[in-house]
Amino acid sequence: MELVIIGNSSPFPGAQGACPGYLIRGEGANILLDCGPGTAAGLQEFCPVEELTGVILSHLHPDHSSDLFVLGFAMGLARREGRLPEPIPLYLPPGNTERLAALCEAFGNLMGFYREGFLFREYGEGSPAIGPFRCSFTPAQHNMEAHLVKISAGDRILTYSGDTGFDLKLTDFLAGTDLFLCEATLEPEEQKEPSSHLTAEQAGLLAAKAGVDRLLLTHFRPGADLDKKKRDAARSFSGPIDIALPGQRYRVETTR
Ligand SMILES: [Zn+2]
Repeated sequence: MELVIIGNSSPFPGAQGACPGYLIRGEGANILLDCGPGTAAGLQEFCPVEELTGVILSHLHPDHSSDLFVLGFAMGLARREGRLPEPIPLYLPPGNTERLAALCEAFGNLMGFYREGFLFREYGEGSPAIGPFRCSFTPAQHNMEAHLVKISAGDRILTYSGDTGFDLKLTDFLAGTDLFLCEATLEPEEQKEPSSHLTAEQAGLLAAKAGVDRLLLTHFRPGADLDKKKRDAARSFSGPIDIALPGQRYRVETTR
């Protein structure tokens, strides 16, 4: 399993940057995880749209979802032009299909076209499979319905925080994670309880308490001091820490 970083910025992209978008690929599967501004373009550096096999949105905040509306055009056209044989599953948080459909209609009755490229699905208690990957979800602590996403292949596990505040109960879901892709949005002086985002130190604390192997920080405001983010996370997590940068690739490997 390989993770490719397409974008790491939030809540807006910096120059040449992109908001959250991550490609998880391996054994013929290409899953796009979140689809923030800049993702539709950046994705194509690594994967033609017709080779996508699934899309998962952690939540509908526009920094995680707004490029879905142009990716929908690309997928619909790929289908009409015969490059995409079947629509691919698009997984949304429970109850969010209606919300997304309302947005698609507001943009000009586009739901019909988007359905040519996407099969709209909601994730619930189950663990759907996309090719060789098993996907599971748990609710995040956020200011709208949002989820953490776990993708596993055999004994290799990648877990993505999406957007979440600090909650030690999340460590149960994180247990066994080889690579934890975790937001580190807040600066220490912005920390409060409850919160809908994490500081880098809190990301490290979650990683440490859950016993994850490796921490990969993401979801930064343009101009954030990323070396400081890494130092802050190292205060609470003694394992390997990296900063997610667009274009970087990570192999998800188990050390167990
Ligand atoms: Zn959010």
